[in-house]
Amino acid sequence: MRTFVYIVCPGVERYSFSAYHPLRPERVTLSQELAQMLGVLHEEDIVQASPAAPELVAQVHSPRYVQVVQALSEGKHVPGYHEFGFASGDNPPFRGMFEASLAVVGASVAAAQAVMDGVEVAVNLAGGLHHARREEAAGFCIFNDPAVAIHVLKQKYRRIVYLDIDVHHGDGVQWLYYRDPQVLTISIHESGRFLFPGTGHPDEIGAGEGRGTSANIALGRYADDEIWWWAFQQVVPALFRWFQPEVVVLQMGADPHYTDPLAHVSLTTQGWLRAVQWVVEQGLPIVATGGGGYSLPAVTRMWTMALATLKGVPVPNQIPPQFALYDEVQTLRDSTPPALPERMVETSRQFTEQAVSELKQYLRPYVEWGDTFAKDGQVGS
Ligand SMILES: [Zn+2]
Repeated sequence: MRTFVYIVCPGVERYSFSAYHPLRPERVTLSQELAQMLGVLHEEDIVQASPAAPELVAQVHSPRYVQVVQALSEGKHVPGYHEFGFASGDNPPFRGMFEASLAVVGASVAAAQAVMDGVEVAVNLAGGLHHARREEAAGFCIFNDPAVAIHVLKQKYRRIVYLDIDVHHGDGVQWLYYRDPQVLTISIHESGRFLFPGTGHPDEIGAGEGRGTSANIALGRYADDEIWWWAFQQVVPALFRWFQPEVVVLQMGADPHYTDPLAHVSLTTQGWLRAVQWVVEQGLPIVATGGGGYSLPAVTRMWTMALATLKGVPVPNQIPPQFALYDEVQTLRDSTPPALPERMVETSRQFTEQAVSELKQYLRPYVEWGDTFAKDGQVGS
C-alpha cells in the first residue's frame, strides 16, 4: 500500500455544460461512491481542495482568456467570444463556469502539492481536462488542469512525464509544453485521422529546445486490448528509460472502453488497467487525474479499479447490488471481450504498427532507445 490521497473537487456537480452534455459530473461522484462501497476509498484518504487562484491559472492560460471566462461565466457579453472556443456545441458557456473550472484546477493543484509534500499518489478524478488551449476552450475543457499541475510541479522537479491514456489526443497539454525540454508528453489515442481533435500524429515530436519531448501513439480504429498494449509497450517503457522522469502526471481518460459512445477503440476495463498498473510499478510519485469516459457503467468501474491499483489495495470483482448502476453491470472486470470482426482488427493492427514505426523514426534522432527499440516490431512480437 502506498501513501495515497483522493482529492475532492468541491462543487464538482457545477462543472456541467447542460443536462444533455456527455461530460456528466456523475462520472466522478458515482466512481467515488463505488470505490467507497468496495472498501477502496476511506474517509482518511479524502482531502477537500480549494479553488485555484485565477493568477495561477493565468500563468498557463493567457490573462485575457481567464478574464473572458470570468465575464462569460457572469453572463456578460464578450465581443468576439466565439474566438475563445465557446461558440461550439462542445463548450457552450454556462453561468458559474469560472468558479467550477477554478475548482477543478484547484483539485489538481492540491494533488500536485500533496505529491511535492511527499505523498506517493494523489488523485483528482474531476480533472484531466486536457484539450483546453492557452486561449481557447475545446473538447469540454475550459481550463487545462493537468497543465497547471505540471506548472506547479516544475517548482520541484526538473523532469516531468505527462502520460495520457484517454482515447483522444492530449493536445492541449502537448501544445502548452511543446517547446519545454523538462516536460515529456506521451499520448496513446485513436488516430486524429478518425477522431477529435484531429492531431496527435507521429511527426508531432516537440519543437525548439523541446524537440524530442513529445510522443504520439496514434492507434487504428477498433484497436483491442492486444494492439493497444503492444503499442504502449513498444514506446512508453523506452521513453521512461531515456527521459528518467522524477514524477508522472497520469491522465486516466476511460473512453478507450469498447462501450464508449464517443470513440472507436475497443478496450476492456482490465485491458486499460494494465497501463495504470505499469505506471505504478515504476515507483515514481504520481499525480493522477480523470479525463474522458462517457459510458457511466464503464467509467465508474475503470476509475474504481484504477484507484485500487494506484493505492495498492485489493478490490473485489463483485459490485454490490446497492450501487446505482447495478442493473447494468455486476462486476468490475468485463467478462466477455468485445466481438470484433477479424478484418477490422487486422486493419487496426496494420495501421497501429505503421504509426508506431513512424513514431520511432521521427524520434530516433533525439531519443536514446534501448535495443528493444532498434527495429520495428509487429503486434504479438
Ligand atoms: Zn477523451
